[in-house]
Amino acid sequence: MPLTGIEIFKLLPKTNCGECGVPTCLAFAMSLAAGKAELAACPYVSEEAKASLEEASAPPIRPVTIGIGDRALKVGGETVMFRHEKRFENPPGLAILITDTMEEPEIDARLKRFKQFQFDRVGLTLRPELVALRDESGDAKKFEVLVNKVMQNSDCGIILMSNNYDILAAGLGICAERRPLIYAATEENLDGMVNLAKENSCPLVVRASSLDGLTELTNKVTEAGVKDIILDSGARTIRQAFEDQVIIRSAALTKKFRPLGFPTIVFPGEMTNNPMKEAVFASIFVAKYGGIIVLSDFQGHSLFPLLLERLNIYTDPQRPLATTEGIYEIGGPDENSPVLITSNFSLTYFIVSSEIETSKVPTWLLVRDTEGLSVMTSWAAGKFVADTIAPFVKKSGIADKVKHKKLIIPGYIAAESGGLEEELPGWEIMVGPREGAHIPAYLKTWKP
Ligand code: SF4
Repeated sequence: MPLTGIEIFKLLPKTNCGECGVPTCLAFAMSLAAGKAELAACPYVSEEAKASLEEASAPPIRPVTIGIGDRALKVGGETVMFRHEKRFENPPGLAILITDTMEEPEIDARLKRFKQFQFDRVGLTLRPELVALRDESGDAKKFEVLVNKVMQNSDCGIILMSNNYDILAAGLGICAERRPLIYAATEENLDGMVNLAKENSCPLVVRASSLDGLTELTNKVTEAGVKDIILDSGARTIRQAFEDQVIIRSAALTKKFRPLGFPTIVFPGEMTNNPMKEAVFASIFVAKYGGIIVLSDFQGHSLFPLLLERLNIYTDPQRPLATTEGIYEIGGPDENSPVLITSNFSLTYFIVSSEIETSKVPTWLLVRDTEGLSVMTSWAAGKFVADTIAPFVKKSGIADKVKHKKLIIPGYIAAESGGLEEELPGWEIMVGPREGAHIPAYLKTWKP
């Protein structure tokens, strides 16, 4: 059973030095008990206390990493049932399925799609992370050829899928250094799979046909020394799989039930033959609470919405996506180019900057820190008004970059133009369009 905050407090140094980021050892103990702090943040815990505290300080859902380097995928580590309580931590990994009985051109096409489907959105690159390689031939040589091909074609994370120990061992012989996920340990093959995971230091999927069975197996696997576990509840209907996801998450977080305190893997492609339904099922697991989602194939029109849904759900609701305050040069502006100002809400920035690019009018874009709020919201909150904009314009150094003194403000804050002319003597304040879509036409009329 996890320790309570007071029990943890008794094991801490009680010096209240504050180096862990909170003022007292008691506050740190409470954060540890709630899974909101890491034990490593206190440099003064004795080794003896560390051993006792390991259980209490471990996150209720263990974070598990698949792959290595820049393409490593971390799943799990979640601490809340609902995003609005705090935030979701690690977005689920999306995988494409490739089997060793597929024809060569089909394998090549899937690998090509895997690499090609990358989307730029609010300054981020959205893309899938994993390739799931399934043995269907029962032939170790064929499986090796497939694993080799993927290793040479991509630096992605890999899931090796087979019921056969020897075939998985052959695959691991080629890609173990990339720390693939091994699929799957079951009641029948438990010892062999545990050995494979331990020998190769790889995470392991544990699969059972019920949650009770899963609990029994994870207990055995952890006792055998494998800590990095992914759960497959075995459900292959959307209703049962969804129910299992909710029960697993709830048991781990609200009951602190360690045997189910691991990320999950789901296979929406095994729940329907209809590609659109599969995408809808996948979207359910993005929201609740898939750790890895294996899709039977990728198509841009189904993958992009999933990536976007994932981006939105896994952003911190308390921190809007924001762009750094400063002067942005778009299209190589010079001393006669127009100067626009906007807020630093990322979506606003990317819409405004892309409309400026579309206009082909080289422009200086000033981005004011509004704590990630959009133009209207920050204006209403008093963060994007004459009193805050004027000091920023003065400090930004834009006056040294242009000969004219004309500042174009968003149409939505037209009411600030008078105040700005007072705060920025010598500047002419011009009211630009309200909507980003009207920026190109507006800029084409620009005269310094
Ligand atoms: Fe206490 Fe350790 Fe935090 Fe210092 S760093 S206040 S000793 S818990």
